[in-house]
This record gives sequence, C-alpha cells and structure tokens, in this order.
Amino acid sequence: MQINSKNFSVQHIENSRVKEIEWDKLEFGKIFSDHMFMMEYADGQWSNGQVLPFQNIPMHPAMSAIHYGQSIFEGLKAYKSKAGKITIFRPELNAQRFAESAKRMCMPEMPEEIFVEAIRILIEIDQNWVPDKDGYSLYIRPFMFATDHFVGIKPSETYKFMILTSPVGVYYSEPVRVKIEEFYTRAAVGGVGRAKAAGNYGASLYPAKQCQLLGFHQLVWTDAVEHKYIEESGTMNIIFQIDGKLITPSEDSDTILRGITKRTLIELAQEWGIIVEERKVSVEEIITAIKEGKLEDAFGAGTAATIAQISVIGFRDEILQLPPIETRHISNRIKAYLDAIKYGEIEDIHGWNMTI
Ligand SMILES: *Cc1c(COP(=O)(O)O)cnc(C)c1O
Repeated sequence: MQINSKNFSVQHIENSRVKEIEWDKLEFGKIFSDHMFMMEYADGQWSNGQVLPFQNIPMHPAMSAIHYGQSIFEGLKAYKSKAGKITIFRPELNAQRFAESAKRMCMPEMPEEIFVEAIRILIEIDQNWVPDKDGYSLYIRPFMFATDHFVGIKPSETYKFMILTSPVGVYYSEPVRVKIEEFYTRAAVGGVGRAKAAGNYGASLYPAKQCQLLGFHQLVWTDAVEHKYIEESGTMNIIFQIDGKLITPSEDSDTILRGITKRTLIELAQEWGIIVEERKVSVEEIITAIKEGKLEDAFGAGTAATIAQISVIGFRDEILQLPPIETRHISNRIKAYLDAIKYGEIEDIHGWNMTI
C-alpha cells in the first residue's frame, strides 16, 4: 500500500493559543504550537498520518520505548523572513539521517517523502507560530518510538512517528565555556553515537551536570578508547581554526553525529576558498595551539544555535582563554551568512531552503 500526503487527515483546533505567548520570556522547548503530527506503524507499514490538536497521548505501562529505549529524534527549524515567507533549512538531510538512526535502532524507516511532507503540512497549518523576530524560529521535533505492549527484549513491531513544534528564541546568547572530558564517554566505536537515539542524550546528562557544577556550559567529548582525540561538544559538532584553516574531527568512525550545520558550513568554507581538514584532532594539538597563541577560533555547530563560539576551554586544572569573538572572522562570517539565508535576507543560491 502507498501512503502519501493526500492520505493525511487534518483536525484543526478551535482557538489558537498563539496570542498568549510572551515572546520576551520564551524558554527553549517549553511551549508547543496548536497542532502536532502523528502516524502509526503496524503490520509492516505506516498508516493513519494525521495532523491533530496538540494533546497528551495515552501510554501503556509496558510500552517498549520506555523500557528498552527504541526511540529516535530529529531537530530542525522553520524561519520567517521579514516579508513573511516561511522556509525550512535542508529538511531532506534530516529525513535521511532519521532513516539512518532508525536502521541502527532496528526501527522501520520513515520514507523521506512522508517525513518532509508531514513537516510541510504541519508548519503550513501552524504558520502563525513561526516568529519573525530576529534570532527566533519554530523548532521542529520529529521523533519515533516503539509502542509494543510487551516487556521482552526484542525489536518492537509497532511504532509511532510524531512531530511537535515549539517557538524558540536565541539558544545561546553568550559564547560558551567548555571542558575537555577525559573520563566519561559519549559514544564508542560500534555503538550508537551516530544515531540521534534518545539514550545517547540520557547518558550524557550526568557528565554534563558535573562540568556545569564547575562553571562550564558543556563538555568536549573525546574518544572512548584513549580520550586523546576530540569528537564533539555537547550536542554540537566542533570546529577549530588554526593558521586560517578549519579543522574538525572526521566522521569516519560511527561515534560522531553527522551534523547538517557542520556539513553546510564546510561546503560554504570550501566555496570561499578556506581550507577545511576533516581528520583526527588530538587534545594535545589543540592545547598546544592555544598555548602558542595559534588557535584562532573554536566553535560548536548545530541547529539549535547554528554557531556557538567557544570563549574558554577547561583542560584538567587549566582554564584556557580563547581569542576575542570579534577576531573570529570566519565563524562570524559563516554565522552571518547562514542566518541571512535562513531568514531570507540573501539569495539562496544553493537551494538549501524549502519554502512552505
Ligand atoms: C543534533 C546533533 C548535532 C548537530 O546536528 P545538526 O544537524 O547540525 O543540528 C551534533 N551533535 C549531536 C550529538 C547532535 O545530537
């Protein structure tokens, strides 16, 4: 059986809550828009795609996702230009990554066409929820989880795919302080680090909390075997700049989440003639570069913040200060360019935006 957009049913809310939002007090991910999307998987196929009013979902206490963690998600954003045009940045890449996450977690694939179309319909219906204030956007959270009523360890035979949306402001307003982690591990070779699987984030909370108690915002994860090589920063990919070159851990192993923001900025930097090295990046190389005054920039890349420049790196007992943000010409230029594309201020020559 073929499922396509025309089979989605739509049930509208009666009164929108959008007028009640206090835009100045918006906290990340706490307010949800009027509608959500839901689709079910059973008997080997997806069916019953529907847009419905945002509401609680009933849950069986033995629902397998909460016991064994077959649960994956994505994160992307809808942006509104000053002229009122709504766009979504490269959603097909999120669809592809979602399919890879599903495969790794023994879950059914959601076809790209349905994934993207479900987002499109939901955003079209809740278009008044896409803010047009500077730095604001509508965060889109597609997710899939196992729904068998069965306490036994095996892949579930039933699943739900859902999409929630949440209006959000600027994620980090200040540069971030990070600490290089040499004990805890985010992902090991052969593990699930490349998947946006729920458990990866649950497992990162305790180590993240320890570093926050020391006054940092987030950790820089290192490899699970020797803790000598840098992998990511919190839930962002990490990029360094030395001698005018961008250097970033390669994604060859399956321990690094393949970020769309990082992929995009590498494409951009190369177009601009900047050399980009994707390779192993050792902690030692970075610490030495800082001490010799050669580390020009370090920043995180991810949908939530786009670019989050790093002001301080903690390593063992040392607190190492990075150059002033205004000297970070490349990351400042990338950030400005990506923001301008997303908010429709410059021409989208790469065709990255999907218009609603
Ligand atoms: C989502 C995520 C990223 C960033 O990916 P984007 O596609 O750029 O948003 C990086 N690292 C981790 C661990 C993530 O979960």
